[in-house]
Amino acid sequence: MSNTDRTIHIVGAGPAGLVAAINLAKAGFNPIVHEQHEDVGKRFNGDFQGLENWTTEEDVTEFLDSIGIEINFRCVPYFGGDFYGPNLKKIPIKTQKPLFYLIERGVNEGSFDQGLKQQALKAGVKISWNDKLETTPPGKVIVGTGPKAADAIAKGIVFKTSHPDMCVGFVDNRIAPRAYAYLLVNNGSATFATCLFEDFKNEKMYFEKALQTMQKVVDIEISQPKEFGGFANFYLNPFVTKNGRILYVGENAGFQDALWGFGIRYALMSGFLAAQSIITGKSYDELCKQHIHPFLKVSLANRMIFAHLGNRGYQWLLNKFSRVKDARLILQRHNKYSLLKKTLFLIAYRWYRTRLIDKQCMHQNCNCVWCRCGKEVSKSL
Ligand SMILES: Cc1cc2nc3c(=O)[nH]c(=O)nc-3n(C[C@H](O)[C@H](O)[C@H](O)COP(=O)(O)OP(=O)(O)OC[C@H]3O[C@@H](n4cnc5c(N)ncnc54)[C@H](O)[C@@H]3O)c2cc1C
Repeated sequence: MSNTDRTIHIVGAGPAGLVAAINLAKAGFNPIVHEQHEDVGKRFNGDFQGLENWTTEEDVTEFLDSIGIEINFRCVPYFGGDFYGPNLKKIPIKTQKPLFYLIERGVNEGSFDQGLKQQALKAGVKISWNDKLETTPPGKVIVGTGPKAADAIAKGIVFKTSHPDMCVGFVDNRIAPRAYAYLLVNNGSATFATCLFEDFKNEKMYFEKALQTMQKVVDIEISQPKEFGGFANFYLNPFVTKNGRILYVGENAGFQDALWGFGIRYALMSGFLAAQSIITGKSYDELCKQHIHPFLKVSLANRMIFAHLGNRGYQWLLNKFSRVKDARLILQRHNKYSLLKKTLFLIAYRWYRTRLIDKQCMHQNCNCVWCRCGKEVSKSL
């Protein structure tokens, strides 16, 4: 293979693009990452997120190791937290192994984004900053440019506090329609946000109500608040390769958790699989069908169930979780691609069908990074 063949262009320095680049560089390729901003993590504002640890038995730290990622960023295990349903009665939920690992997103030192950037640079990846691509370069290209539309949104604040570390969750359609609000405190910094799966135009009202609700049950001082927000995009597209040379990764490919928006693991996994496909010649579409699509299908089935629970159902669910020693095990069970979940997925797929269409053009000979210039191809799952 010539040196030119070994040059792989990657669009977007998000987690998906960077993991692909790190793995390609380690395998002797020359990845060049094109990033539209002057640094990584510009989509975020120092807010805390969770690396979920409940979809697989394998700990997410082992998963990181298996895809060649070291932990050189803030990564703190949380063994459950305090949860509140609509009646605002505290329900502590515990797990034997971490429920999630708290990470920071954004440009600050110690953030997940900066950690991945350091690993990429160390592996020899070239990153071209302030380089927004509209069309894809020639040869094999990996596109990881993030969400294209909003299926769920989040609005929140990050702030300083002297409160001890904690995780608090709220499920109540009056403050977070068909979703949840969360407070994460770590080492003097905190993130509070509400997520919405519908009624986006009233996000300000929901955020204010969510903040008031949180302050009723948590005695926490808020200093130096800064706003942040964002959106998530999920859909199911069985074809994540175009023209046999453009491989879509991360949220750009619709790889997002339809239940609660925990998309980082799918972003990382898809970046790794895209690199493996280039290194080994295996089909990227097939690798994704095997390692990612079953999880996405289960998440869609779970979304349909969760969206129909309503406030009484949330309360019932929390009570159920509070009675077990290890809530992580129940979540794990609900994330298995069982016969029941396969059936529920088919119903959910019909239910959400219009939302799940990826309007991206998949025409042969179209080299746009992202466009809607043509009809979608027929897709079957
Ligand atoms: C508020 C919020 C909270 C979240 N919380 C969690 C959580 O707790 N746990 C979890 O697992 N997930 C969470 N998510 C989802 C998670 O952040 C995403 O799934 C993940 O970041 C997707 O990674 P990605 O690499 O696909 O895309 P991104 O992180 O969006 O990265 C895409 C990159 O591509 C660049 N780019 C875009 N277009 C171009 C272009 N044309 N040319 C060059 N560069 C370009 C962008 O600047 C960006 O750097 C949250 C999302 C939001 C918005």
